[in-house]
Amino acid sequence: MVDTQKISIERIANSRIGEVDFENIPFGRICSDHMYVADFKNGEWTDQRIIPYGPMPLSPSIPGIHYGQSIFEGLKGYKDPSDRALVFRPADNWKRMNKSADRMCMPQIPREIFMDGLQALINLDRKWIPKTEGSSLYIRPFMFGTDEYVGIRPSDSHRFMIITCPVGAYYSTPVKVKIEQKYTRAIEGGTGYAKAGGNYGGSLYPAKLAQDSGYHQVIWTDGKTHEFIEESGTMNVMFVINDTLITPELGDTILNGITRDSVLQLARKWGMKTEERKLTVKELVEGLKKGSVKEAFGAGTAATIAHIELIGYDDEDYYLPSITERKFSNRVYKELDAIKRGLTEDSFGWIQKF
Ligand SMILES: *Cc1c(COP(=O)(O)O)cnc(C)c1O
Repeated sequence: MVDTQKISIERIANSRIGEVDFENIPFGRICSDHMYVADFKNGEWTDQRIIPYGPMPLSPSIPGIHYGQSIFEGLKGYKDPSDRALVFRPADNWKRMNKSADRMCMPQIPREIFMDGLQALINLDRKWIPKTEGSSLYIRPFMFGTDEYVGIRPSDSHRFMIITCPVGAYYSTPVKVKIEQKYTRAIEGGTGYAKAGGNYGGSLYPAKLAQDSGYHQVIWTDGKTHEFIEESGTMNVMFVINDTLITPELGDTILNGITRDSVLQLARKWGMKTEERKLTVKELVEGLKKGSVKEAFGAGTAATIAHIELIGYDDEDYYLPSITERKFSNRVYKELDAIKRGLTEDSFGWIQKF
């Protein structure tokens, strides 16, 4: 239960919801009416509040801007057929956010700050959760250092916020990716396993180069040798090779994706062989040549499953089997979607009703 007493609420004067075309929502451009804010000061969380979404004053000297002391999460909410709000695995996002916070010298976010804030925000902006097929409410929690101090040291004060945006049907147009042989997203001992802002700033340039040569994204390889497959863009990457679901094992350099974990759990439940292990570029490329790589996809909250249609390596493009032939990834996409919308039994306890 939410102690809404602790959260002050300032409602928007006029809702903007009438301006939104729910049949045609661009990803991440329109935010719901309200946002949740909590401040960490003098060692404690204070001033929990919900205010109208919009610009807010910030000091220009904060480390969240200068030094990337900034972390975020991404999760999704849905409506079930009886109009209840369902959120997919929010406690896992909360736990992961605290791992990111540790790595970035930021305070732990208590469960109540994260969950009660989310609950209060969803209560208020419930009508912003789209019901149209393929659409959902994207939920973005984030935290950044707010000390007014230009020197480099861990911030003592921080701001935690949640904003939400209705997002449209993610047209799962298959993606073209290239295996990255020069640039690096993450390195052992670095921050790759954290959802830390700087990781994404650094990945824009290699992604742009890939896009300039006709790909949508890169497949990241390890920073030392570029011999091992790691992730794809901002998604985990998974393959069906022969009859086995294979994905790189977790470590410092790989983000522990909640979609990745959900896909692995479903595959195991269905009796499919799964392997979390090192996967070399050599094994993958040989498999692509032989035709043993049956399916390849990115796994992440935004797309759920992004089918990979083509993989580029060493100036050669390798096409994968057509999307309609991909039994596993199509089935897992459908099942996850049905669970998230409350259309099928949630046997793993992934759904939280709000
Ligand atoms: C967020 C993210 C993922 C996917 O995680 P989910 O919990 O499935 O959304 C994968 N890789 C990177 C680098 C990410 O930032």
